[in-house]
Amino acid sequence: MKRTRNSSETLSIAPRFEVPDGSIPRLELPAGELPPDTAYQIVHDELMLDGNARLNAATFVTTWMEPQADRLMAECFDKNMIDKDEYPQTAEIESRCVHILSRLWNAPEANEATGCSTTGSSEAAMLGGLALKRRWQHRGGTGKPNIVMGINVQVCWEKFANYWDVEMRLVPMEGDRLHLDAASAVALCDENTIGVVAILGSTFDGSYEPVAEICAALDAYQERTGIDIPVHVDGASGAFVAPFLDPELQWDFRLPRVSSINVSGHKYGLVYPGVGWIVWRDAAALPEDLIFWVNYLGDDMPTFALNFSRPGAQVVAQYYNFLRLGVAGYTRVQGYSREVATRLSAKIEDLGPFELITRGDELPVFAFKLRDDITNYTVFDVSEALRARGWQVPAYTFPANRTDIAALRIVVRRGFTHDLADLLLDDLRRHLATLEKQPAPTHDAASAAGFHH
Ligand SMILES: *Cc1c(COP(=O)(O)O)cnc(C)c1O
Repeated sequence: MKRTRNSSETLSIAPRFEVPDGSIPRLELPAGELPPDTAYQIVHDELMLDGNARLNAATFVTTWMEPQADRLMAECFDKNMIDKDEYPQTAEIESRCVHILSRLWNAPEANEATGCSTTGSSEAAMLGGLALKRRWQHRGGTGKPNIVMGINVQVCWEKFANYWDVEMRLVPMEGDRLHLDAASAVALCDENTIGVVAILGSTFDGSYEPVAEICAALDAYQERTGIDIPVHVDGASGAFVAPFLDPELQWDFRLPRVSSINVSGHKYGLVYPGVGWIVWRDAAALPEDLIFWVNYLGDDMPTFALNFSRPGAQVVAQYYNFLRLGVAGYTRVQGYSREVATRLSAKIEDLGPFELITRGDELPVFAFKLRDDITNYTVFDVSEALRARGWQVPAYTFPANRTDIAALRIVVRRGFTHDLADLLLDDLRRHLATLEKQPAPTHDAASAAGFHH
């Protein structure tokens, strides 16, 4: 991939780092060696410029784990997930995690859990989408396959459609409806629809899509037309939130039409990045001809993955969290995040200039915008101002047909306490006092503020 470089081509470093001529090349492999301490110091120093992960209210991804988890991960850095034969216990732990999730999401055949770990929800989405496409082919589908979803889908679904030649049928936002609804989803379905993707919850505003209503509408559609369209739930965040905080909500395998669910272990699964999961409702939902077999203790073990080699440490850390936290612990941790999110959103509403789009009472994530009568500063100015103290609160515009909305979003996750929320609020209040005095309407700072899904 090409990326324009504008920095100088050599690193100038202080003599105490013991480099003979005082500089080493930045963009080509150095000819000689460096002492390990020197190499460490150079890389370490450069990384000081990265933002502070704990002040990053943009990311959904875990930025804090217990020291015991850190230690376990360090013990597993050398383990390759694919070497089932060499690391049978790591393979066993992965399989236990799939069973745990399968039961957590109420799969009907609890003893025949079908699923696997992945590098994240993106890989899980590719696998889920491929299974849907292959099932449609096995049903005799011959036209151009399509997949129906809300325009608020995460970019991984656009990748899936692009990479695997599936037509994307996107339902735009309309009025106050900022995610997929049942009627608009069904309106786009036909005999070449491989599936409908429902999101729990939307990265734009943290809201849950109405999975049960979408399934019911597809039941009625099947009665009318005979066409049976499966639902995949993209539960990247919510599949680790709803089971603990909204046990009554029907969104999982309790709905017969839900055929697969993905989740990011590294979001509300509370593990550092790179782990995701996908689980199918039963073995029938995953076509046999997508499965490969690898050697495992002299036996063959089924795998379905895009990668071959992959680190085992994150899977082990996921199992650590399951043992360590249990239902009570996950309920406590996610409950606290939601409490922080709803309290902080209420206080932001009380400040005056903002209107809440969501309150953080579904995912512990909320979006808010400036009142329409505020014209002398924008949400992009607010985002930029908060960066002065290291807070990363992204500002972004919504997709069609609500590109008129420009919003800020705060993701509350483990490690973001009421105390940190109050500090953020103090800084926000301070910056607003300055911004309110700002005279003229400003240019768009949109490109300056990054938007992280
Ligand atoms: C984060 C996210 C993804 C992508 O997940 P990764 O684990 O980052 O690959 C997909 N869908 C939704 C709804 C997400 O929030």
